Amino acid sequence: MKNTLLISNVTIVNHHEVFIGDVFIENGRVNKISRDLSVKAEHYINGKDKNWFLLPGYIDMHIHGSAGHDVMDATQLALHQMARSLVQEGVTGFLATTMTQSIEAIESALMNVAQFENNDDEASLLGIHVEGPYVSKKRAGAQPIEYIILPSTKQFASWQNMSKQRIKQVTIAPEVEGGFTFIESLKDLNVIASIGHSDATVEEVDRAVTLGIKQATHLYNQMRPFHHRNPGVVGAVLLEDQVKTEIIADFVHSHPQAVRLAYRLKGAEGIILITDAMRAKGLHYGDYDLGGQTVHVSKDGAHLSNGALAGSVLTMEQAVKNMKAITNCSLQEIVAMSSTNAAKQLQLSTKGHIAEGYDADFVLLDENLNVQKTICRGKVVFEK
Ligand SMILES: [Zn+2]
Repeated sequence: MKNTLLISNVTIVNHHEVFIGDVFIENGRVNKISRDLSVKAEHYINGKDKNWFLLPGYIDMHIHGSAGHDVMDATQLALHQMARSLVQEGVTGFLATTMTQSIEAIESALMNVAQFENNDDEASLLGIHVEGPYVSKKRAGAQPIEYIILPSTKQFASWQNMSKQRIKQVTIAPEVEGGFTFIESLKDLNVIASIGHSDATVEEVDRAVTLGIKQATHLYNQMRPFHHRNPGVVGAVLLEDQVKTEIIADFVHSHPQAVRLAYRLKGAEGIILITDAMRAKGLHYGDYDLGGQTVHVSKDGAHLSNGALAGSVLTMEQAVKNMKAITNCSLQEIVAMSSTNAAKQLQLSTKGHIAEGYDADFVLLDENLNVQKTICRGKVVFEK
């Protein structure tokens, strides 16, 4: 009875199936799924007459901050506040994302995550996404150029130790000196090599893919764009089936038609919705700090004083709504793009899917895709 939850009369949506049923959860895991389960539980959620959809919880692989805090603050408070705030948008897991800063600043952020342990009312911190400093100065965007350095397998190995092996993804420009060797070295470390902030040619991307690139960081943004005689990183990523791509579907970082184009070419299986959010997410418009730079946040997004886009204030809830609105994709495809693909990339064998034995990380949506409840490890952590 203790630590049990019965969710009944909901439409369960997985990447390859949709069915009406009940889910019985015990100690944070799905114990049984069936129609008309008659078991006693400590807590109940009944979706009768509500038209609710139960999806695997959203996983955001690229998020720097929210609720006034940033991973680079390198405090336990910042990580807890982020993890606590993200459940409001249906997120049950995320990669704490660092950015290009001094080596000391990056290392203190890594060591801070190494010590982190989730409270039970928070989204799970699934690991670290290291975005920069191994990127191209030509495609820096909001990554401060003065801190961009060449990739070093030795340095990265020491970072992985400092983080207690919690680095799961690194954004890298393959074409910089040492880039290809670096990508090869990631295979043994079980870290996702993601091409981003890169000025590579299509030929360089193809070579990088054979060496181990599995993902692309925020498609279209800060990568060599498509030209018909020089298809660039964008052209290569759109065509390369082995590469899944992150996309910021806020319609600021990419035009709605560019989002449609990505969906058309990559399919739901090839797309990972992310937010790339910074600390102003969930707060009022105004000026905020991003890696020592002032970012102005308004209805038009988050920009540096030179006009460059500097992260977003997007929520996963809104990203899902935007994706559905512009592509008219199915809810099963939404599941792939918001959870299953990320879980697969991260090799999380008990997440991204609703089935017996899996972690009870769910988002409960109404028919307009509003988050009604978020359930982390079997516990309701957010209710609208
Ligand atoms: Zn970012």
